[in-house]
Amino acid sequence: LHSYALGTPSGCTGRARLAVTDLCRKSLELERNNEQLANLSTTDALTGLANRRSFDQCLLSEWQRSARSQQPLSLLLIDVDHFKRYNDHYGHLAGDACLRQMAGILYDCAQRSGELVVRYGGEEFALLLPGTDVEAASVVAQRCMDELVKAQISHANSPVSPWLTCSIGVATMIASPEQLPEILVRCADEALYRVKSAGRAHFSVAPSLT
Ligand code: GH3
Ligand code: MG
Ligand code: MG
Repeated sequence: LHSYALGTPSGCTGRARLAVTDLCRKSLELERNNEQLANLSTTDALTGLANRRSFDQCLLSEWQRSARSQQPLSLLLIDVDHFKRYNDHYGHLAGDACLRQMAGILYDCAQRSGELVVRYGGEEFALLLPGTDVEAASVVAQRCMDELVKAQISHANSPVSPWLTCSIGVATMIASPEQLPEILVRCADEALYRVKSAGRAHFSVAPSLT
């Protein structure tokens, strides 16, 4: 209840009371809706991880931060091996559940604050690791592979292993203001492509550009 005093031109005063419960309720509801919208626009619906849109935003700000601080920025691009065969063998719904499990495993592999775990698209994930050099990024890549092997997710139709595996491309750079952050993605993608061509289930580090 909102209560306030009113003055009239003839000098009388009165007191008014206004019931604001409905207004408060509506404003809270609006706030909640806005929060949900903001979450939807940055979160992947299937896995609950950050989505590609929030990756693009984060990549740009971390790239700029790296250029200012001259600290390295690392990116892991992670692609599930033979996932089409997984769907073909176990069905699309099981494939969805598998991607959720994979997301949980990768989420647990990122351990420092500021690290971003993303569903990059389809059966591809990304880890953006600010302030992380190539050695530390390789440790994280190895941890991702080890934890996935430990989970022993059956993949009976994989020519690589009886368990679900992934391939990882790692790239590390100290950003420069003259370059666009997409170069980091391109380097990680090329490293990933090399792993795929060399038989999968490994990680590969992109050669240093400097
Ligand atoms: P590679 O080892 O070369 O990466 O082979 P792959 O089969 O993993 O790669 P490919 O690009 O041929 O197929 C990706 C598959 O991922 C096909 C697509 O149906 C599946 N996929 C993408 N998004 C989803 C999803 O949200 N749910 C499910 N269940 N499958 C998905
Ligand atoms: Mg792929
Ligand atoms: Mg794949």
